[in-house]
Amino acid sequence: MTDLVVSGGTVVTATGSSRADVAVDGGRITAVGEGVGQGAHERIDATGMLVLPGAVDVHTHTRLPSPDQPDRFFADSVAAAFGGTTTFLSFNNPGTGISDEGSQSLLAGMREFRARTEGESAVDFGLSAVITGQQADPIAELPELIASGVPTAKAFMVYDFRLSDERLLAALRVMGRHGGMLQVHCESATVIDSLVADALAAGNVSCRHHALTRPAYAEAEATHRAIALARAADASVYLVHLSCADALAEVAAAKARGWPVYAETCPPYLALTDTRYAAEDEAEVIRSVISPPLRSEADRQALWLGLRAGGLDLVASDHVPDRLAVEKAIPAPPFPQISNGAPGIETLLSLVHGLGPAAGRMTLERMVDVLSRTPARLFGLTNKGSVEVGRDADLVLFDPDASRTLRQTGLHHSSDFTPYEGFSMRGAVQSVLLRGQAVVRDGTFLGRRGAGQFVERVLD
Ligand SMILES: [Zn+2]
Repeated sequence: MTDLVVSGGTVVTATGSSRADVAVDGGRITAVGEGVGQGAHERIDATGMLVLPGAVDVHTHTRLPSPDQPDRFFADSVAAAFGGTTTFLSFNNPGTGISDEGSQSLLAGMREFRARTEGESAVDFGLSAVITGQQADPIAELPELIASGVPTAKAFMVYDFRLSDERLLAALRVMGRHGGMLQVHCESATVIDSLVADALAAGNVSCRHHALTRPAYAEAEATHRAIALARAADASVYLVHLSCADALAEVAAAKARGWPVYAETCPPYLALTDTRYAAEDEAEVIRSVISPPLRSEADRQALWLGLRAGGLDLVASDHVPDRLAVEKAIPAPPFPQISNGAPGIETLLSLVHGLGPAAGRMTLERMVDVLSRTPARLFGLTNKGSVEVGRDADLVLFDPDASRTLRQTGLHHSSDFTPYEGFSMRGAVQSVLLRGQAVVRDGTFLGRRGAGQFVERVLD
């Protein structure tokens, strides 16, 4: 007998929407269609609801449990669940609590991440490694990393732990040859370092100079270079947190030539603009200090167009669970020392739905594509990302007509603020299932610490 049927809702996939019931057995979807799953052991009424695949958030910086915050990885996984995200990928860069030993070797870092997150998560999760200049020989470790179920890794073109162009090319080549995909943070170190030096020499240390020293052209130039290096390596490349029209044009040009170039954007760039940096109060400005920085309204509009038209492949949160008094260190330190990041693991679906389909900027089907299907496909999460037979029953019952105001007091993440305080969004997550098990129902957490499994991935 079927375990469960979710009945009466509107099932949304990347290619269409229809009234359909969803039958679930052993945690997998076994049938989708009207009247399937008759006589199931359990029935969930989804009348009036959209039945969406859980969001797959491929860009988070969740932090490992630590003595002073033993629950932080778990808290962010619960936050993901409340937000309708049933799978997330985490980076294990040093700021996330990885030990010195884990920081010095990709493989040691992977083993440490797995050991310290075992039994911690409420939803499924995986790892994307981070290649830094501090590691002894990360490029040599890539083949074994890929073979161990971690086929994606991020490298930086900026910051003191960046890779040189030569090493970036080598990393792209090894990833391409061994079935991996490199994720690249594209900003020009040459441009930014010189602008930062000028600002500091002039005594301009306030928060807003973070953005002023990271112009859009510095991102566009690095994006162009990363694409050229990927071409030279005969490899695919994935550009993280694309924020501006000029970088998008580089991606669109590469895609038009048929090159395997993929790009994500993130909710801050779809929801906010650089007017935030004009606030008088430094404590306000610091909440929006992220890299790349917030851009102009014209850039924001261009990103929405790119998402709709396909120049951008997906949206991920770039969640950084900073706290104002701790990592953000209010009152503000000189801008080069400010932690660059903002929380967002819980607000991803809410913002993309509220500003996307609910505002007429994209279809529901495209939303499911950019939040679930494409991230699952590009990142080797083959059982995730779609309400179809054979996939994991990671389902979100979403009320498209409810309205919700985002407030820190209503969120579950380990951060102590949200950049979206007071944003009113149409649509609300009502219930969330992970492999057929209830994690959230009507605003109550029904899940379990450790119910989420580490997913070993293989790219297509
Ligand atoms: Zn990031």
